[in-house]
Amino acid sequence: MDEFFVEKNASATGAHVVHNGCCPSLPAKDALHLIGVRSNTAAPLKEAANWFSASSPCPECIPAK
Ligand SMILES: [Zn+2]
Repeated sequence: MDEFFVEKNASATGAHVVHNGCCPSLPAKDALHLIGVRSNTAAPLKEAANWFSASSPCPECIPAK
């Protein structure tokens, strides 16, 4: 089980990046919205849509399938 976060600020592409809590590139906590502890990466990516219209997985901590 890992803790997931979504960045409050959009990236250059307009998407809000979703991170695993152990990401080496994790921004400061005040720039992050806590999604919660999840057992997979699909759930937090879907839940990011509850706060932001566009989101994308961090390439460093959430590998593409
Ligand atoms: Zn990351």
